[in-house]
Amino acid sequence: MERDYRSQLLKLYKSWFSEIVNDLEVLIYPRFDDSQIDSIFESFKVKWSQLVDGFSSKVRSIAGFVKDFTTRNFNRQMESVNKKELEVNPFINNPKLSQSINDFVSENVRLIKNFGNQGADRLTTLINDSVRQGQSIKTIKDHLKTEFGFGENKAKLIARDQVGKFHGNLTQIQHLEAGIDKYIWQTAQDERVRPKHRERNKKVFSWDKPPSDGHPGQPIQCRCVALPYFDDE
Ligand SMILES: [Zn+2]
Repeated sequence: MERDYRSQLLKLYKSWFSEIVNDLEVLIYPRFDDSQIDSIFESFKVKWSQLVDGFSSKVRSIAGFVKDFTTRNFNRQMESVNKKELEVNPFINNPKLSQSINDFVSENVRLIKNFGNQGADRLTTLINDSVRQGQSIKTIKDHLKTEFGFGENKAKLIARDQVGKFHGNLTQIQHLEAGIDKYIWQTAQDERVRPKHRERNKKVFSWDKPPSDGHPGQPIQCRCVALPYFDDE
């Protein structure tokens, strides 16, 4: 899911970036011509917003994948502890669930719009500065490559962070719907887990008393998850 989101967002970003680079080629070949520079800068944002318009339906389908995954996961956990009666019906329309999906879509569209707009601003500054300093085309191209890599990392971060948060929210909704008010904090158990979360591994928390930085998945880039906890365990 995270991978799916990441690859869709990267595809969007790549196609935008290559269009920009094509436009810039017009500007810098055969020699620098700044008569079109403002309209080209203007087009960065226009192009991005056109691409993002078609992207919200993709974000919605990613939300659907995450919902299905979270539901399957939860039902499997209930089955493994012989509590099949607590399983969640994936087709029941829980208002909290649809609210959470809508929030995910609007928040992600907002983040993606900002992501491109900030990238466009940085590119505009970068090219203006390069031109003013009389940098060579090769140097400008190197800067563009660096900038592309920067955006790529940012896109990956958005995908990981948002899918983790959303999965965490859905888990909370499903637990509460099934009457489970506590959970076991489970980390990804690798060296990337932050020390604060490592200390929480396997410990029991209440859904109504979140730790200072939130439930699993809520802190930025958190990959921890919440497993159902039963008092009779
Ligand atoms: Zn964590």
